[in-house]
Amino acid sequence: MKLHIFQSKQSAVFCYGVLASILLLCGLLTGCGQNGASAAMAADTTSQATTAASDSYSTDLFAMDTVMTLTAYGDNAQAAVEASAAEIQRLEQIFSTNLETSSIARLNQNKEIQLPSEAITVLQKAIQLYQDTDGAFDITLYPVIKAWGFTTESYRIPALEELQQLLQHTGISGIQCDASTGMAQLTDTQAEIDLGGIVKGYTSDQVMQQMANHGVQSAVISLGGNVQTLGTKPDGSLWRVGIQDPDAPDDCICVVETANQAVITSGPYQRYFIGEDGTCYHHIMDPQTGAPAESGLSSVTIVSDSGILADGLSTALFVMGPEQALQYWKQHPADFDAILITTDRQIIITAGLVDCFQSEYDYYVFGE
Ligand code: AMP
Ligand code: MG
Repeated sequence: MKLHIFQSKQSAVFCYGVLASILLLCGLLTGCGQNGASAAMAADTTSQATTAASDSYSTDLFAMDTVMTLTAYGDNAQAAVEASAAEIQRLEQIFSTNLETSSIARLNQNKEIQLPSEAITVLQKAIQLYQDTDGAFDITLYPVIKAWGFTTESYRIPALEELQQLLQHTGISGIQCDASTGMAQLTDTQAEIDLGGIVKGYTSDQVMQQMANHGVQSAVISLGGNVQTLGTKPDGSLWRVGIQDPDAPDDCICVVETANQAVITSGPYQRYFIGEDGTCYHHIMDPQTGAPAESGLSSVTIVSDSGILADGLSTALFVMGPEQALQYWKQHPADFDAILITTDRQIIITAGLVDCFQSEYDYYVFGE
């Protein structure tokens, strides 16, 4: 890495000293090196919900294979949260590949079906991201993800030849979709897609819309540790979102202050298994190799107005690695900012975060 291109800064704020008095949203995840695999757990909004003003409402639910927490403030908070929970369950029925009856599962099975228009929208966004990221974000990796056992938790290490054979059927050339008719087709009959790298971000966008439709002006949600905020906290201050330390699952490595934005993290520790030789095999695949991406990063957090973009890019930039990820940001600085944590624990933030980022550790600012 060309770290000499960054300007080093030291934060004056000690992260943990302020945590007791603020809302901290930090995914409580199981890290590589511990036993077994684990999906992301709920963000810790409980203490805030119980100490908040009486006009707040919060609920936890399990959907899309992860724990979610939804909190809204003000009039209509309960109705907004309940409508949001129903919206999540509705979207799960469309997008979850592990529900046999979902639209995407039926597309994988039948190879050609009519999709609800919002599924076409998400599919088109995924295809666009594939193009924008030179294939780092690739929804056609589903057969590869299955081969590693991530869909069944019957983990295995596929042979190189098996992966090479599967990779012959990946890439977006095998997908066609037509927004005018709603028809989607997998023209390569061995192709299958998985929107798991983008759908929670789309869902959090839709939940924010539900909240706004109910007149809510202040809300915060965590979908398996992926956070999205509506407005500011009820007292007008910014939400403080803790980013998990990839090497210490119960701690935060830094805090981002934000309003009206998604803060979405991808990291190996969110889902993985340990091989017999002690190697950690995680769930973010390198489309070039069909194996878990070893890009020099241990987590990528994207901060953006758009949840779907933040989700897609957190996965894509993880695959790219630090240099390519920063170059990508340089081409799209208005769309998002990023926090990259390298496997040797360097923290790099993009320039847009400089006034809203705090960490007890040294960090580098890119692009100032
Ligand atoms: P995320 O947690 O948003 O990074 O998404 C990771 C999930 O996206 C994985 O569990 C897979 O279902 C899927 N996935 C893995 N690798 C990729 C990739 N390179 N591009 C798109 N989706 C991927
Ligand atoms: Mg993602």
